[in-house]
Amino acid sequence: MITNEELFKKIIAHAKEYGYVFPSSEIYDGLAAVYDYGQYGVELKNNIKQYWWKSMVQQHENIVGVDSAIFMHPTVWKASGHVDAFNDPLIDNKDSKKRYRADVLVEDFIQKIEEKINKEVEKAKKRFENFDEELYRKTNQRVVDYQNRIDAIRSQLSNLLNNNDLVGLKDLITELEIACPVSGSRNWTDVRQFNLMFATQIGSLADGADTVYLRPETAQGIFTNFLNVYKTGRMKIPFGIAQVGKAFRNEIVARQFIFRMREFEQMEMQFFVRPGEELQWFEYWKETRMKWHLSLGIDEQNYRFHDHEKLAHYANAATDIEFRFPFGFKELEGIHSRTDFDLKQHEQFSGKKMRYFDAETNESYIPYVVETSIGLDRMFLAVLSYAFDEETLNDGTQRVVLRLPVALAPVKAAVLPLVKKDGLPEIAREIMTKLKAVMMCQYDEKDAIGRRYRRQDAIGTPYSITVDNQTKEDQTVTVRERDSMEQERVAIDNLLDYLHLS
Ligand code: ATP
Repeated sequence: MITNEELFKKIIAHAKEYGYVFPSSEIYDGLAAVYDYGQYGVELKNNIKQYWWKSMVQQHENIVGVDSAIFMHPTVWKASGHVDAFNDPLIDNKDSKKRYRADVLVEDFIQKIEEKINKEVEKAKKRFENFDEELYRKTNQRVVDYQNRIDAIRSQLSNLLNNNDLVGLKDLITELEIACPVSGSRNWTDVRQFNLMFATQIGSLADGADTVYLRPETAQGIFTNFLNVYKTGRMKIPFGIAQVGKAFRNEIVARQFIFRMREFEQMEMQFFVRPGEELQWFEYWKETRMKWHLSLGIDEQNYRFHDHEKLAHYANAATDIEFRFPFGFKELEGIHSRTDFDLKQHEQFSGKKMRYFDAETNESYIPYVVETSIGLDRMFLAVLSYAFDEETLNDGTQRVVLRLPVALAPVKAAVLPLVKKDGLPEIAREIMTKLKAVMMCQYDEKDAIGRRYRRQDAIGTPYSITVDNQTKEDQTVTVRERDSMEQERVAIDNLLDYLHLS
């Protein structure tokens, strides 16, 4: 059995070896927490984007999209609260000179206790027949003690963060005797706040340059366009505005590959509703978004909700959809009931009325907002880590296969002439021409057929179509399915139907 850490390393190596994800500017040794997507990565990313867009915009008649600029008027970020409060608490270790997020140090500490619980559970699983995990977690004294400890630390941490108590945070780190993973020492600086926004100048300095920020979220471009879209789109409440685009955060903890990046992409949707109806819609979106994830065919056990107990001052309900990444369950998507906070702030700062006239009730009001916000890159990582599999076959050999959902796979079908002669490449080329008009395909005639299959497995191609001598006689080909490796003879004329993609 390999450890989760080893598995994660393998996934990262595989992503690079097969053209999914490369470190940015690698020839200059890379740039921390910035990544590029390669030839297959860009396809997977586009497919995820499209799968999201179709389900959110195309399938909801009352949701439309926008594509707003990354630069925005600086006052936007004052109104949204980002200038004053988009901070992370940072702490430095004086010996290693390494910088950490204070809350992440505490979270990592909690995770270690969680691992202890998991070990106890695994041990017990082996010991007892008909093992009831839920009951065991509730009744085993050692597990209960660990869990109580976790709950106590979590609640203390969230109180300190909500009260902005930096001294208390440092005290907690000291009390838990947390040491720097690099130096092993507990020689910490005080905790300081660090704003996550990247700032730059617009215009030349001579004509009075202004500080602008690279947007840390796409949502504000939706709020600032609320009036434009509502009026020009003749939208009726409840309605939504969706956007996919880049966001930038100067993250202190730059690790875990594409889980936490400094430049990343978000897929966000703000749903505008009548005041008082927001909690119903919050439940609707919670359920709808979970269904979206499950519709990809990824097992349910990889997902869980994490409802927020302590809410941000502007929210009246919030939950995360967490995914089982190789390093544990972590946030993949956030669903938040944000009240009328953002529009109200923009009304105050801009002096423009950010209101909706409701013809049904004859009232004018600031709508309430339920938002769904998912990181495209995190979704990419979730899909990739779910799909990665090292399988030992019946004959004892191993293959690496990416079991990507068909809808997301970069290449849907590979067209392979069995040999490079006897007219087989010509027939394969004809099939290729037909299929590539409809789906992403790849032609490959190099190496033995077994090796070509392995190559397609490693990039996650669901179907491999092989042209052999029998094809010349009866116009059929073999179609090999990636996961089962089963092969079936299919008439060339029926190929598109067979692939369910015509
Ligand atoms: P975290 O607690 O992990 O920093 P967050 O709660 O700050 O995330 P939100 O502000 O709610 O995240 O952003 C919405 C989504 O954007 C997240 O659920 C995540 O998928 C994605 N996201 C946020 N920060 C990053 C990042 N640095 N790199 C990649 N994706 C990110």
